[in-house]
Amino acid sequence: MRIFKRADDIEDFTKRAKQKNATIGFVPTMGALHSGHLGLLHESKQQCDISVCSIFVNPTQFNDTNDFKKYPRTTEKDIEVLAEAECDVLFLPEVQDIYPEKNVKHYDLETLETVFEGKFRPGHFQGVCQVVDRLFTIVQPDQVFFGQKDYQQCMVIHRLLKITPEFENIYMHIVPTFREKDGLAMSSRNMRLTDEQRKTAPVIYQTLQFLKYNIKPGNLSTLLQEAKGKLIDAGLKPDYISIANANTLEIVEHWDGYSPLVALIAAFLGEVRLIDNMLLAD
Ligand code: AMP
Repeated sequence: MRIFKRADDIEDFTKRAKQKNATIGFVPTMGALHSGHLGLLHESKQQCDISVCSIFVNPTQFNDTNDFKKYPRTTEKDIEVLAEAECDVLFLPEVQDIYPEKNVKHYDLETLETVFEGKFRPGHFQGVCQVVDRLFTIVQPDQVFFGQKDYQQCMVIHRLLKITPEFENIYMHIVPTFREKDGLAMSSRNMRLTDEQRKTAPVIYQTLQFLKYNIKPGNLSTLLQEAKGKLIDAGLKPDYISIANANTLEIVEHWDGYSPLVALIAAFLGEVRLIDNMLLAD
């Protein structure tokens, strides 16, 4: 596995690879890698000649400095794991490579920025777009791989591809969520859970399943109240538990029985904020 720390060096590498007509798959991450990340890499390896992963804990997407400070960083282990998974290239940039200028761009994300993660983490998706824009510009991928685990983020990246002419030829894959045996969505943040909290955490998945199996056309408020109660009874503090149109993320209060739906949850378990989602009808 080649490891690049400087933007110029990886830019040079991918330019030369492209001259030889190699296709480049790209998996951006914040490290503390788990099998979900490796699933994205696996998909890239199936689809592309060269697979590039990046690890960068992006300061601009954290609205909570404590969360940024406490975000797990396990770079040595991550390098071993990626080499073992036969990743071709790892990009490990420094902050000054990603943000060489003080001025950062602003992106028109329309309502995506005002609902769910956008609402509860102001500035988060601007930060995501800033880092992804810069990484795509440096790596010049043909195909990019993102996890459905971050459902709204996938929609934001779609929007970024749509509004950025330089990215019009990039194809985005959305890879289904990888879960632990008990259903908990894999996440780097799971490392921060105590043993006790780890036992409680699968209630999020159970609640999503409860919604999936009990949804019926008509008003959804009673079902959602019951689902919210399950999280609260288990000791979680939900930021939101909602059902939305899977294509637009508009909240659906009354289901017509046809529209595609996604259920979305964000909840604190102690200090750790977990998110998950499930398609209910698609
Ligand atoms: P992160 O390191 O959390 O920024 O995630 C990097 C990429 O991995 C993003 O596209 C995430 O959506 C994806 N990802 C994180 N967890 C999972 C998971 N459990 N299953 C699938 N993809 C995931």
